[in-house]
Amino acid sequence: MQPQKNIEHIRVSIPEYRHTKIVATLGPASADKKILREMMSAGMDIARLNLSHGSFEDHQQLVEMIREVSEEIRKHIAILADVPGQKIRITYLADTRVQFQSGDIITLTTVPPDGEPLTQTNSTASSHIIGIGPADYLADIYPNDTVILKDGAVTLSIQAVDEVGMQAVVTRGGVLTLGAGVIFPNKKRVIPFINHHFSTACLFAASLQPDYLALSFVESGEDIIAARTFLQDNHYNIPLIAKIESSTAVSHAEDIMAYVDGVMVARGDLGVAMPLEQIPHIQKQLIEKAVEREIPVITATEMLESMVQKNLPTRAEVTDVANAIIDGTDCVMLSAETSIGVDPVQAVHVMATISSETDKHIPLNRASAQKTGYKPVSALVSHAARLIADMAAVSIVAYTRSGTTARMISHERPSVPIFVITPDDDIARRVLLYRGVFPSTRRAVETYEELITSARDLMNRTGIGRKGDYVVILAGNTKGETGHTNTIKIEQL
Ligand code: PGA
Ligand code: MN
Repeated sequence: MQPQKNIEHIRVSIPEYRHTKIVATLGPASADKKILREMMSAGMDIARLNLSHGSFEDHQQLVEMIREVSEEIRKHIAILADVPGQKIRITYLADTRVQFQSGDIITLTTVPPDGEPLTQTNSTASSHIIGIGPADYLADIYPNDTVILKDGAVTLSIQAVDEVGMQAVVTRGGVLTLGAGVIFPNKKRVIPFINHHFSTACLFAASLQPDYLALSFVESGEDIIAARTFLQDNHYNIPLIAKIESSTAVSHAEDIMAYVDGVMVARGDLGVAMPLEQIPHIQKQLIEKAVEREIPVITATEMLESMVQKNLPTRAEVTDVANAIIDGTDCVMLSAETSIGVDPVQAVHVMATISSETDKHIPLNRASAQKTGYKPVSALVSHAARLIADMAAVSIVAYTRSGTTARMISHERPSVPIFVITPDDDIARRVLLYRGVFPSTRRAVETYEELITSARDLMNRTGIGRKGDYVVILAGNTKGETGHTNTIKIEQL
């Protein structure tokens, strides 16, 4: 019997088997059971908790709500807790809003939040003093360094540095407000990654027992190692996502990716630290490297920004989401759209619609294996499974204990959904970040025959397989160690 290749039917009629995963940031607009339920049904796969806002109790409650609703509607939802970085901010201004003109000479000084400036030179009117902090983040600053305030509303050039502070000239005039962010682009962080601020925020995030921790302002692989060691010392073992959001992180991307479990292209802060026109190609490079490294990648920030206020996106936003998917991202992320936006459910719905439509138009991954010598058996098997599936099958079904098999197949970017069966709920949630992977938990898959039965059952239940269709089934030793996938079976339904 000829296999009927009905990929079109899968992609068109079953939008829940959308390959691209949706991360939605929760906040006041979405901290509600009914809304969460609707967001999950609309396509949220990963709930992101932004720990720079809200109290511990707020987040604890949110976690309970997510787990409860996800159980109720029987859909795995991963939780990603985002550990904020320490930002340098404006801590003193003569007024709550101060206008600066190009050419103004100002003094930058370190002052405690809400404090008075420590020093005031006679030559500088108080309206020309900007207090910034925390102080221990400010070292190694030299004449000609650039300072970007309030996301670029005002820029300065340092002229002199002395014990009083820094003298600077305003190179772009504008209005500043208290609390606005301050960036010294191209500067490395001067204090260790594991500092008091990080430890407190990280332990708080870890205690929520999320499926992933996202780390802000990571600068090197060493930062990842330090964070992992710190967490292990505190008896936590949580997969880590590195937010790439500084020029240092971009130039150390390969090093970071060698140690981390996933990355985020954090375009918000990246777009302040670097010229905006560089964001598109940096995004493409980061996604390409992550796919090569076989770690999941999230593309984040302002994806459907106008939906913070409106219930329809702009053409440019729709195109941005689609392009990130074509670039090869595993996940697309919503931030303010779902945390403080007018209609979080609609934002997820729009994201899901764009994603399923775009999935249909991704060119098949036609790259064929190159003889590069030794490759782990599991990698060979994943590659072959993808080739077979792209030619003739409707899905890939695999058994995974650690999630490694799921990750390897996902990074082959097959055109068909990858159903993974795992005994462990934690692993099921972990693999939700991987493009095209749909987990289900089964306690008792002990033999290859049981796996085949489960695969047939899945195809029936999801409506993906029709009689005569091929399914590619992968397994290793179902009882034994992880990473030993060595068997491919082509099963005809
Ligand atoms: P943030 O990170 O939302 O925590 O700042 C994402 C970004 O910078 O794009
Ligand atoms: Mn950021």
